[in-house]
Amino acid sequence: MEKKENSFKEKALSIENLTFIAIVLGVVAGIYLKDIVIHLKLLGDAFLNLLKMITIPLIFASIFVSIASLSSIRDLKNLGLKAFSYYLSTTFLAVLTGLIVVNVVNFEPVSNVNVNESIEHKPFTIEALIKSFIPSNIFQSLADGKVLHIIIFSMLFALAVLTLEKTKKELITNFFDGVNDAMLTIAKWIINMSPIGVFALISYIVAEKGPDAILSLWEYVLVVIVGLFIHAFVNLSLIGFLIGKFNPYKYFLKVKEAVLIAFSTSSSSATLPVSLEVAEKKANIDKKTAGFLLPLGATINMDGTALYEAVAVMFVASTYGMELTLIEQIIVFFTASLAAIGAAGIPSAGLVTMTLVFSAVGIPLEGIALILVVDRFLDMLRTATNVWGDLIGAKLISRYINSSKD
Ligand code: ASP
Repeated sequence: MEKKENSFKEKALSIENLTFIAIVLGVVAGIYLKDIVIHLKLLGDAFLNLLKMITIPLIFASIFVSIASLSSIRDLKNLGLKAFSYYLSTTFLAVLTGLIVVNVVNFEPVSNVNVNESIEHKPFTIEALIKSFIPSNIFQSLADGKVLHIIIFSMLFALAVLTLEKTKKELITNFFDGVNDAMLTIAKWIINMSPIGVFALISYIVAEKGPDAILSLWEYVLVVIVGLFIHAFVNLSLIGFLIGKFNPYKYFLKVKEAVLIAFSTSSSSATLPVSLEVAEKKANIDKKTAGFLLPLGATINMDGTALYEAVAVMFVASTYGMELTLIEQIIVFFTASLAAIGAAGIPSAGLVTMTLVFSAVGIPLEGIALILVVDRFLDMLRTATNVWGDLIGAKLISRYINSSKD
């Protein structure tokens, strides 16, 4: 009896539940204890920095180890092809969901919004997207945290190591395998601090932005939330259930810490250490598969961002009194997908790449200022969706290459 009670207590006080409670308390404190929690920025930033601190070595080591320990290039092709098919199809599905919801709702033009807020006018172009894949100095990229560069380099490095003689190959692979494990151990320590870190992050954001901003753009906010909700809980869950043949609800319970951290940090990259830890330790996804798919997914698979960008463009267009034709919406469909792929896994990255979609359909870039006030809040939700999409993908693909143990 006592044992049962203890295990109930343990479960109730698990880090995941405490993190969830911290989010709720953070919102309440952000509203009612504004003057106090505004000073918690330092604590929140410290937590975020701890996560970021291990992200770069972790990305490098986990991508390297997964590829270097594959038995053949054919295995890599197999894994890569499955990953890209999943990423592309779910990104398209997300944008489509967003566009359908927008067309059903049909935004009324908003008149009391402020277009004069300053935004950075640095349009994101296809040229920039292509260049963003190729590093010229990998040490610079490592220092600047250019995740896509690091992924490309670690893939090439791993492929080269595959061609080396056995002793050299084992030496390098064992070394990075050790780095990977050590980083994951640090990740576990940081996760234990997440209730405090998350409380600081959330209460500060709520205190700084306040709920008023959300109310002023409630229709737009609601459409984004509904779209993200449908994609996360209907589309992705159905894909997991029907194609992956696993129970998405049970899976969610296992990996929810990563989704909560994504929500609290608004950064897929900073969430990566947590995603890897829960995928490997709680959901039993094979280390090689998770180590390859999750860093890649955190960087290029952004369903939430894609959906958000499509809705945002449609909303701003309606505010300018423009009604986008079917052809223009098809352009939005493709450019929003590209812009999401090009967005880095950091806060507000989607806002920058959105300029690509705006330019493609001729909406003034100033229009982005209209949605700035609510961006941080919606960023939390779209990042949570992004990470959930990566986790569903990792589970689903691991099933198809027979490495998931349950
Ligand atoms: N914050 C998002 C992420 O890290 C990217 C975005 O701004 O949409 O996944």
